Amino acid sequence: MDQVDAIVIGAGAVGLAVARALAQGGRETIVAEAQAAIGQGVSSRNSEVIHAGLYYPPGSLKAQLCVRGKELLYAMCASHGIGQRNCGKLVVANSDAEAAALRGLQERAVANGVPVQWLEAGEAQALEPALQCTAALLSPTTGIVDSHGFMLALQGDLENAGGMVAFGSAVDSAVLGRGGAPHVVRLADGSEVAAPVVVNAASLHACALARRFDGLDSRFIPREYFAKGSYYALAGRAPFTRLVYPAPADAWLGVHLTLDLGGQAKFGPDLEWLEADRPENIDYKVDPRRADGFYAEVRRYWPALPDGALQPSYSGVRPKIYGPGEKAPDFRIDGPQLHGVAGLINLFGIESPGLTSALAIAEYVAALLEPKRQ
Ligand SMILES: Cc1cc2nc3c(=O)[nH]c(=O)nc-3n(C[C@H](O)[C@H](O)[C@H](O)COP(=O)(O)OP(=O)(O)OC[C@H]3O[C@@H](n4cnc5c(N)ncnc54)[C@H](O)[C@@H]3O)c2cc1C
Repeated sequence: MDQVDAIVIGAGAVGLAVARALAQGGRETIVAEAQAAIGQGVSSRNSEVIHAGLYYPPGSLKAQLCVRGKELLYAMCASHGIGQRNCGKLVVANSDAEAAALRGLQERAVANGVPVQWLEAGEAQALEPALQCTAALLSPTTGIVDSHGFMLALQGDLENAGGMVAFGSAVDSAVLGRGGAPHVVRLADGSEVAAPVVVNAASLHACALARRFDGLDSRFIPREYFAKGSYYALAGRAPFTRLVYPAPADAWLGVHLTLDLGGQAKFGPDLEWLEADRPENIDYKVDPRRADGFYAEVRRYWPALPDGALQPSYSGVRPKIYGPGEKAPDFRIDGPQLHGVAGLINLFGIESPGLTSALAIAEYVAALLEPKRQ
């Protein structure tokens, strides 16, 4: 049986970032990826926004890792020539209640160490003349990134540090070693690889996979839920240079406008809890009728949105570990300190801002593991 220092399961942005960090730390690292290419999961079905870190409870992993991840991501984009644009974002209010929500967001941003600037309506409209609002919060450190370019750069660094991605390598299960014995990871084709370090970065599949880890107590595995987000592309060019979000309501950011690096605008993602109990059963088709509800929402901040301008685009599914109506929990990065299995890290519920946080999650995972024994 082959043995390496570390096996990371899943070649999305998070798995690749973790593998890169482990390889750069001197571990012989393999990424086991079920698909034939990197980034075929959640990492290629998102908004590609570099989040500033406004929304998350101060002190939470989401807050800390988003803010740190943002810095690391901008730096990596600069050093590796990855496409990005630090375009900034406006969160807008159109009622007294929304202005109050914006004030709350401003306080939270300050507590998270994220720069924001309060704008009166005229100041916001001077920046974005097509915008309608009574007040806005400007987040100058928000941006957009070429997520695939980011993942290619992660893979390149991983390979330069001696690691590799094994494609077509779906992990079926694992037998966790105790008392210093390595873990044995079994692939779907029946082959096995041993490693003292196993990182489960399988995202939508992470909970189901962890249930097939022999030796992990089931109380350390949350129940998974899937929540779909559909996007609608704007036909024609948007009159905005910044991202535009309504004041947040509940756990959802509202129908917001994001831009890609080519300047194409899209609205979404919305939030649709799925009945599917397995990721294999998810239907990614975008229902054109769901756009009907978008028009009124968008026209609250962009009254000139033309009729029929929203075209079904793509969808993504959030790997949630909480159900409808429940309070959003933090990222779960479960290490030996929690579940008692040396060398095992499970990443659960890595939804947004997981792309922004990927490099900081990688630092965090590396720190949870003891340094490699020489
Ligand atoms: C609609 C939506 C919008 C979002 N927008 C943003 C945003 O703008 N900014 C932001 O920061 N974050 C955003 N996110 C969150 C971000 O996309 C994710 O947190 C991040 O991409 C997760 O990366 P990952 O590597 O954990 O998962 P994935 O990219 O899904 O990678 C998991 C990999 O594991 C593989 N895998 C699964 N099971 C197995 C197995 N048994 N064996 C081997 N391989 C396996 C899969 O094939 C996949 O390649 C968004 C998410 C969604 C759903």
